[in-house]
Amino acid sequence: MPSLDDAQRLLLDTFGFPQFRPGQGRVIATLLEGRSALAVFPTGAGKSLCYQLPALLLDGLTIVVSPLIALMKDQVDALVKRGVPAARLDSSLSPAEARNVFTNLRAGRLKLLYVAPERLVGGRLVNTLSNLTIALLAIDEAHCISEWGHNFRPEYLKLADLAQRLRAGRVLALTATATPEVARDIARSLGIAEADSVVTGFHRPNLEVHATPCLAARRLSLLLQRLQNRPPGPTIVYVTLQRTAEDVAAFLCSNGLDAHPYHAGLPDDRRHLVQDAFMASKAGIVVATIAFGMGIDKADIRYVYHFNLPKTLENYAQEIGRAGRDSLPSTCELLAAADDLVILENFTYGDTPTTEAVASFLSDLLARGPDFDVSLYDLSNHHDIRPLVAQTLLTYLELDHIIEAAGPFYAEYKLQPLRPFREIIARFDPPRADFLTRLLQLGRQGPKWLTLDTIAAAQSLSEPRDRITRALNYLEEKGEVTLQVAGIRQGYLLLQPNPPIEELASSLAARFLHREARDVARVRQVLDYAREPSCLTARLLSYFGEQMPAPCGHCSRCLGLPLGPLPPAPERPLGPAERAVVASLRAEAHKSLASPRSLARFLAGLSSPATTRARLTRHPHFGTFSNIPFPRILAFIEN
Ligand code: ADP
Ligand code: MG
Repeated sequence: MPSLDDAQRLLLDTFGFPQFRPGQGRVIATLLEGRSALAVFPTGAGKSLCYQLPALLLDGLTIVVSPLIALMKDQVDALVKRGVPAARLDSSLSPAEARNVFTNLRAGRLKLLYVAPERLVGGRLVNTLSNLTIALLAIDEAHCISEWGHNFRPEYLKLADLAQRLRAGRVLALTATATPEVARDIARSLGIAEADSVVTGFHRPNLEVHATPCLAARRLSLLLQRLQNRPPGPTIVYVTLQRTAEDVAAFLCSNGLDAHPYHAGLPDDRRHLVQDAFMASKAGIVVATIAFGMGIDKADIRYVYHFNLPKTLENYAQEIGRAGRDSLPSTCELLAAADDLVILENFTYGDTPTTEAVASFLSDLLARGPDFDVSLYDLSNHHDIRPLVAQTLLTYLELDHIIEAAGPFYAEYKLQPLRPFREIIARFDPPRADFLTRLLQLGRQGPKWLTLDTIAAAQSLSEPRDRITRALNYLEEKGEVTLQVAGIRQGYLLLQPNPPIEELASSLAARFLHREARDVARVRQVLDYAREPSCLTARLLSYFGEQMPAPCGHCSRCLGLPLGPLPPAPERPLGPAERAVVASLRAEAHKSLASPRSLARFLAGLSSPATTRARLTRHPHFGTFSNIPFPRILAFIEN
């Protein structure tokens, strides 16, 4: 059995680090001793090393599950550069690249394989993996496994089963943010002993945290005042909406500050420009949505301001955690206006599907026979449920053993011949040549690519779809064609014939309402934090289960800065004018606004697949009630 000394040597030889960082040694020792572990370290503390290093010492393959494709790619590239045999399987690989990974896997040439969680739900990959020795299953962002976590992803719940199915030697769960409750939940799901949960401290003594309750109307001038009366330094101002990023940056610029907006709505090259300039700057100001931060590894960020309330305290901790990585004093301030509650809470309401939508989803899905396949995109559009929510519904059905995932596959193949099809086909024996001819005739010829719907082709040729995809892959392997795949579909088996649809629909709808209530409560916790009268640092840490022996001495409260009241958001009355809006919308009789909930969502400015498709998001009344709490809008419509 490899020892911690071996690990120490490898740390220097392969990774070039003289010593472990806090927690790493303990986690690695636990894994080497053959037990599963949980690592809760803040972002940037070095969680990846906790599986990368054991992967090299243990016999067999280490699987790393991560939902973040970009980070996966960076890590694999870095490992390969260090000579570590690592690969990833994600939707960005071409069929040839993916095949190459499979070949290397089967030949036992890989030590680390990175995959997205949805890849690990049955199908070819799981079959291949179950024939291999799995030394370690590492689960990044493990808080997603907990219903109490701030970013619950139901497909994570299936990972515990997977670990057993693959007979993984041990499991490592990793996360940067876990309340004690979430940490216990993760450990319980994955069979990790309490003693093997390693939680390093979150306390960052160099961060001065401030929380300033204020009126929404006062925030711009308050922010400007802060930025003008302080030593310059790299600064992030976080906002919730893309529009706000633009507005705030423009306001700061008009006051002589060099500020740039950053959000997912900007073109890629523009975003890269802003990011690169910020990385190199000593005083840059970026006004950003949470899209900014993922890959930002800048040690000297001096200021993080929150112009809007963060969604949860977990998010807040992550976002301010980007300040002062160099351990020098840094300032984080939350400008807390109660108006933000409405927008954040309404986001949550936008995700809850209507009971009718859930029922129509189920009657469609569960009437497709003993085995079936679906496109998440089509399902989502057809039943007007957001894609992530549709995925959640499917997973709930799996966890309730109503259906079982049989793995994803691509329905659409596009091929481009590298010489005329005639010549390609001439090289095959007559039966095969005939099959290929009939197959290629079914394709749609575009200017460059021939597109084949493999499901339709299988039906029309009365051949298994598998034979078709094998033939196409064979052509590519032989260098006859270039292939592209699209139209991902999920295969399923129906485990329970004639399931009680109505009963299921109401229990699933209740589950979503329950989640909704919990997410709303989380937003309120942020506001409570902003109103905390004693040490803010202690308050934040205690949320994550850490006790401070004494107040921090340098937060707004410890410094005795005045704590004004949190002015309530002005309440907008719902009267005749609003009634007229509702009446006029009803008169327009939009199909996608038929139920009270969908009409309420529309008025709150929350899009759904159907309203987007019907271009209703450009309707003059879209979002006219966006500053009114969703439950009030709903009640108003229902009466
Ligand atoms: P996390 O996943 O916890 O956010 P990473 O695993 O991405 O953090 O590591 C952050 C950085 O710390 C990486 O650049 C990594 O190379 C570096 N690092 C990890 N362990 C050590 C160590 N023992 N000594 C020095 N640097 C380390
Ligand atoms: Mg990480």
